[in-house]
Amino acid sequence: MVKVLIVDDSEFMRKLLRKILEGHFTVVGEAENGVEAVQKFMELKPDVVTMDIIMPIKNGISATAEIKKVNPQAKVVMCTSVGQEEKMKQAIKAGADGYITKPYQAPKVIEAIQEVLRR
Ligand SMILES: [Mg+2]
Repeated sequence: MVKVLIVDDSEFMRKLLRKILEGHFTVVGEAENGVEAVQKFMELKPDVVTMDIIMPIKNGISATAEIKKVNPQAKVVMCTSVGQEEKMKQAIKAGADGYITKPYQAPKVIEAIQEVLRR
């Protein structure tokens, strides 16, 4: 089973994503900022990380860069909102493999994750 780590500072968004992913993937953990994301990435070794961009303490762009430094093969899917195009460009530079857009549409979320796994 494909293991996913969910990273978002909003508990509501984490729960929502968990609901969408369960049944398709194994959600191995959740993190609410970039520092926790890097720690849990190393601890849980997920196949895919869903990474919110804007978070306190450490944002998703910095966390993605660190995760890619730890493991260049890591798969990171950014969670973006309308109006975050500039940040998304930075995320791609940091090594993001794909993205999903809020508000989430379940089939698109599943497809985006399967897509990065095929690479
Ligand atoms: Mg956020």
